[in-house]
Amino acid sequence: MWLQTKIIKFKKWNQKLFTIILTAPILPFKAGQFTKLSFITEENKRIQNAYSFVNAPKNKNLEFYILLVPNGVFTNFLYNMKLKKIFITKKSSGYFTLDEIPICENLWMFATGTAIGPFLSILQENSLKLKKFKKIIVIYAVKFENDLNYLFLLKKLQILYQNRLFFQIILSQEKNKKFLFGRIPNLIKNFVLENSVGIQLNAKNSHVMLCGNPGMIQETQHILKKYRNMNKNLRSKPGHVTIEKYW
Ligand SMILES: Cc1cc2nc3c(=O)[nH]c(=O)nc-3n(C[C@H](O)[C@H](O)[C@H](O)COP(=O)(O)OP(=O)(O)OC[C@H]3O[C@@H](n4cnc5c(N)ncnc54)[C@H](O)[C@@H]3O)c2cc1C
Repeated sequence: MWLQTKIIKFKKWNQKLFTIILTAPILPFKAGQFTKLSFITEENKRIQNAYSFVNAPKNKNLEFYILLVPNGVFTNFLYNMKLKKIFITKKSSGYFTLDEIPICENLWMFATGTAIGPFLSILQENSLKLKKFKKIIVIYAVKFENDLNYLFLLKKLQILYQNRLFFQIILSQEKNKKFLFGRIPNLIKNFVLENSVGIQLNAKNSHVMLCGNPGMIQETQHILKKYRNMNKNLRSKPGHVTIEKYW
C-alpha cells in the first residue's frame, strides 16, 4: 500500500550524493530494512525503487541517503526536485537485520557508498542484540574523501559505543595517508585491513555483513570463503556472511 508524502528536508552533499527526509505513518520496521519510494510520471506510470532507512526505527524522520546515478530515472527526478508528490510503502521489507545474524565475538559491517545507510540505522538503534557482540567494526569504502558524508555520525556513535565500535575508511580512487587505499577484497586477502584495525577476521570469531556494490559483495564473499573458510549465512544453514546487494 502506497502512502503519499512530501520531502521535508533535502540536503545536497555534493554533485552526486544527497539525503532526503520525509515523514509518513508507516508500519514499524526493523533497523537494516528498506522501503520503496515511488512517483507517478506525466504518462501516469509509477516508477519505484528500493531505499534503505538511515534512521533508527524509533525516529519519526525517515531518512534516505542516495546517489545520483548518471541517467538514472528515479534519482534524477529526485535530485532535480521535480517530484511534487512522492509515495512510500506502508510496510517495509528485507532480511538485512540483526535478527538474521548469529551471535559471535566480532560483527563486521562492510559498506560501499550509500550502503552505509542500513548500518547507521542498526547502530543508531543500539538494540539489546547488538550489545551481545564484543566488537563492531564498520568498514566504509568510498571513491573520494569528499564522499564521506556520514563520517560525522560514525564519530558520534563511536563516542556512544566507547571502546566497542571501530571504523576504517577505504578510498578507492584517491590516496590519503589518513585512510586505506584500494579495494575491499584485496585488503582482506593481504591482511592489510585486519592489521590496520588490529582485529582478526575469521570464521571462529566473526560475522560479516556486506552491503552495496554487487561486484564488491561477490568478490569479498569469494575471498572470505577461499581464505577464511567463511560461508554465506542462510536461514536454512547459518553461516558467517550476510549480504544485501543494491543492484
Ligand atoms: C534493497 C535495496 C536497497 C537500496 N538502498 C539504496 C539506498 O539507500 N541508497 C541508494 O542510493 N540506492 C539504494 N538502492 C539502489 C536504488 O534502488 C536504485 O537502484 C538507485 O537509486 C538508482 O535508481 P535510478 O532509477 O536513478 O537508476 P537506474 O536507471 O535504475 O540505474 C540503475 C543503475 O545504477 C547503478 N546504481 C544503482 N544504485 C546505486 C548506488 N547506490 N550506488 C552506485 N551505483 C548505483 C547501477 O549501475 C544500476 O545498474 C537500493 C537497492 C536495493 C535493492
